[in-house]
Amino acid sequence: MTAMDINSVQSILRERLREVDERMTSACRRAGRQRAEVTLVAVTKSTTVEVAALLPELGVFDVGENRPQELWHKAAALPSSLRWHMIGHLQRNKIERTLPLVHLVHSVDSLRLLEALEAAAPPTPLQVLLEVNASRESNKHGFAPEQLTALVPKLTELRHVHVKGLMTMAALADDPESSRPTFAEARTLRDGLRQQLAVPHTLEHLSMGMTNDFEIAIEEGATLVRIGSALFGK
Ligand SMILES: *Cc1c(COP(=O)(O)O)cnc(C)c1O
Repeated sequence: MTAMDINSVQSILRERLREVDERMTSACRRAGRQRAEVTLVAVTKSTTVEVAALLPELGVFDVGENRPQELWHKAAALPSSLRWHMIGHLQRNKIERTLPLVHLVHSVDSLRLLEALEAAAPPTPLQVLLEVNASRESNKHGFAPEQLTALVPKLTELRHVHVKGLMTMAALADDPESSRPTFAEARTLRDGLRQQLAVPHTLEHLSMGMTNDFEIAIEEGATLVRIGSALFGK
């Protein structure tokens, strides 16, 4: 990209960030929440390293990728001030290379993966969210809502992995309102699990809401929204 291109990309990105931030602020206001309670995770999967490199100077440090290889690639090329969020399915053979790079794994979607992460025994505790299939779609990764309570004894035993909350995705739909029951259920599940667990498994986070439905997610308690196309286009 030429210098001029990158300048115009930067001003488009700045404007889109401003719009998303305004919408986040309004959703917080409607829900009686503070804007500081919700973190924007910019999902960079559909953009380039060059564009993602503009994010820190625009005040965005939390970035997410859904494919491990793409996260490795971008993390290697971008400043270490970025905090990487792994938001997609993590295959067990990709754990070793991914763990040193990530701030938070949103997508722990099976007991096998949870056990493999614990066994990997990272030198500093690994912060994770459990992905819950609150919309109950058969094609989705994640724990079934009914499975969570049975997991509690396992979670209590974790030493290297700290469970910081839940992540969910609503069913694809044109109307963002249709995501609300899924998000409300995720919050109820999180609240229930939080009562059964103790430090360091503090479950303060709810990662939910994407371009189409992040405002509804914030109204329902999201602390992390994962936004790609509203910032970088389709
Ligand atoms: C791509 C992706 C997002 C962002 O989706 P947009 O609709 O582009 O905002 C969020 N979460 C996950 C898990 C994704 O794969």
